[in-house]
Amino acid sequence: MIEKAGERGVKLEFKPYIAYRVRDGLYAVAMYKWIINGKCPFLNDENLCSIHDVKPLACKMYPLIIGWDDKTLRVSGACPWIRDHLEELRGIDPSKVFPEEFRAVVEALAVLDRIEKLAAENGWERLVGGGFDEGELIDIDYFF
Ligand code: SF4
Repeated sequence: MIEKAGERGVKLEFKPYIAYRVRDGLYAVAMYKWIINGKCPFLNDENLCSIHDVKPLACKMYPLIIGWDDKTLRVSGACPWIRDHLEELRGIDPSKVFPEEFRAVVEALAVLDRIEKLAAENGWERLVGGGFDEGELIDIDYFF
């Protein structure tokens, strides 16, 4: 993705969002927030995603969303299509309406489980949004 952005002369900006305290001063980053100013640089002239094959998991899931804490499956009300079809979607299994997106959800939940297991085994404290800004940050992948 970063490579694709480079090809377009775009520099992507990410901010650590969820991290675990490995020890004082060292934090394992489990999730980054992608800072998009204005519209996504990967939208093409037809307003379609131009990096479909390598787009982030969150994009692959959308409009399905996972609650990080309780692992509930949610459907984004920010999606105009969802808003337009709200009544007819009530009570329908989201995996039937969005099979491809649901597969991405399953993939994301598997990643989340691995992270939680690793954190529990090591007694790492989870920090959301901040508290780790001053320390050394390392991708959680490093520990797998
Ligand atoms: S799907 Fe994701 S990467 Fe693709 S255009 Fe939309 S926000 Fe950008």
